[in-house]
Amino acid sequence: MNYITLDLEWNQAYLQQALSVQKRIGAHLHGEVIQIGAVKLNEEMQIIGSYSMIVKPRFFCKLHRHVRDLTGITQSMIDHGTPLPEAAESFRRFCGKDFVLLTWGPDDVPMLRENMTAHKITSEWLDCDYDLQRIYSRQREGGAQKQRSLEFAMEALGVEQTLPAHDALNDAYFTALVAQRLAVAEGVRDYGERGEQYLLDKTYGDADIGERGYEGVEEILASPEARQETCPVCGGPLATVDKVLHGRGHRYRTLCHCKTCGDLFLTLKVFPNHDGTHRLRKMLTVADPAECEVYRKKLEDAAAKRRRRPRRRRRSSAGKEAPATAE
Ligand SMILES: [Zn+2]
Repeated sequence: MNYITLDLEWNQAYLQQALSVQKRIGAHLHGEVIQIGAVKLNEEMQIIGSYSMIVKPRFFCKLHRHVRDLTGITQSMIDHGTPLPEAAESFRRFCGKDFVLLTWGPDDVPMLRENMTAHKITSEWLDCDYDLQRIYSRQREGGAQKQRSLEFAMEALGVEQTLPAHDALNDAYFTALVAQRLAVAEGVRDYGERGEQYLLDKTYGDADIGERGYEGVEEILASPEARQETCPVCGGPLATVDKVLHGRGHRYRTLCHCKTCGDLFLTLKVFPNHDGTHRLRKMLTVADPAECEVYRKKLEDAAAKRRRRPRRRRRSSAGKEAPATAE
């Protein structure tokens, strides 16, 4: 597994522009990403790659003078930048398959996700981000939530400021140098829940703490624990609108709807226990419209794939609905 330190620069809107964009897209955009900078480290914490991309904004196209003064990025640079959908895809390719994201502070990944949602592209794959500032606080300051600046941590850890700050690549590079001086693997392992976005997060069948584990995926998907019939927010009935979609690895997802709270994703993840059985982690999150669209598309693709497949009788599973697969 690789570590990717990520830093973004984003443009802020002039007030009138912000209001008109908000009206147009029906959502509040806190800023628009104009540079993505990232550095890749391997498990030995050696730097093995870097990434920098200037992004052309679509909503806040006029560069705010404060942003220009702070970052040195010019109007002409962003005018000739790469549109976010392509930039996000190339960044995804840079990240590869097995990685976690490290950012300094909690803001970068939510900002990128918000931007991607405004472009109606899926940002699920960013769901592996860890705030290195929090890891730093725990390991260096006894857990005090002091929100130290990157510059502060660099000085405390003896990292010399050799390049200008407020450039996404430089800041990602310095974040990488700080990460090299922390116990990152341990920090990620002991991180606890990332963010507060889970409306429900429960684990069942954890044999490692003495519960009875499940035999396998089929038993898990058929179990009452894999379903969710009430909304954890309002307590009202929760309708499952679609079949369970099988995602990458042992990850299953279904879209649910609460009349009061809207669309929610029920995500099931299956993990092996040490005794060879399995446990289930069940999560509910608010489903954003872009992710719903992607989900529906995958569901259609999976249905089309099933139709193309020659029919085979499987007596043993007669009457059982097999989960649809995607990816
Ligand atoms: Zn509800």
